[in-house]
Amino acid sequence: MIKIKSKEEIELMRQSALVVSKTLGVLASEVKPGVTTRYLDKLAEEHIRDLGAIPGFLGLYDFPNTLCMSPNSQVVHGIPNDKPLEDGDIISIDCGAKMNGFYGDHAYTFEVGEVAEETKKLLRITKESLYEGIRAFRAGNRVGDVGYAIQHYCESHGYGVVRELVGHGLGTEMHEDPEMPNYGKRGRGKKFKEGMVVAIEPMINLGTHKIKQLKDGWTILTLDGKPSAHFEHDVAIVNGKPELLSTFSYIYEALGITSDEEAAFRQTSIQEK
Ligand code: MG
Ligand code: MG
Repeated sequence: MIKIKSKEEIELMRQSALVVSKTLGVLASEVKPGVTTRYLDKLAEEHIRDLGAIPGFLGLYDFPNTLCMSPNSQVVHGIPNDKPLEDGDIISIDCGAKMNGFYGDHAYTFEVGEVAEETKKLLRITKESLYEGIRAFRAGNRVGDVGYAIQHYCESHGYGVVRELVGHGLGTEMHEDPEMPNYGKRGRGKKFKEGMVVAIEPMINLGTHKIKQLKDGWTILTLDGKPSAHFEHDVAIVNGKPELLSTFSYIYEALGITSDEEAAFRQTSIQEK
């Protein structure tokens, strides 16, 4: 069952999303060669708690950490460890937080040092596909419209769209209805309505879309060992249109990147708590 959120609930969800946005911003200045994912995980946990929230993933389905940290050929659900990041790596960081009873959940794939051109392009296209998907998340459209937009964009670049893992409704539960696949057919699936909130999260592989799972029961990797990228935003339907609750602006500030990619999805200014 899809749980529609009131205007007030959407504002609370914006605050939860912003906890994650700010945490990813703190991590952005720390991601570099020599740093371990376990260090970044601890940093994120402290920051989330300092903001008056609790980590959203820690203990969820028994996940052992605050962040899912998935380097290189890992798609999602990687577990932080003591292996230092290396120059040329990419690292997908997925972060969740819960505050006022609502979850925020979003993700960004970072470059570590100097990354190969074909990998940089994978990151750029995956992020662009996220916005292609968000554009299709509007009242009257359907789940398949978002999936189609992401799939069409990524496959036109020859990339593999992961099938087994999907985006999702978001609210008082981390995973609510509807499921939001990154593939699909236009005009198919559940219809979007005012007040829906979802996490849209393309997981896109440089090579095959096929994946495998490590024996740890969590880590998902590409079957061919090629890199995978993951970008995620929390989005609400307000006045029939997509409105971003999360933002990459803290990341861009930390990295010195100028971007207007989110401007089209801001109907109201971000309200600081
Ligand atoms: Mg996530
Ligand atoms: Mg998610």
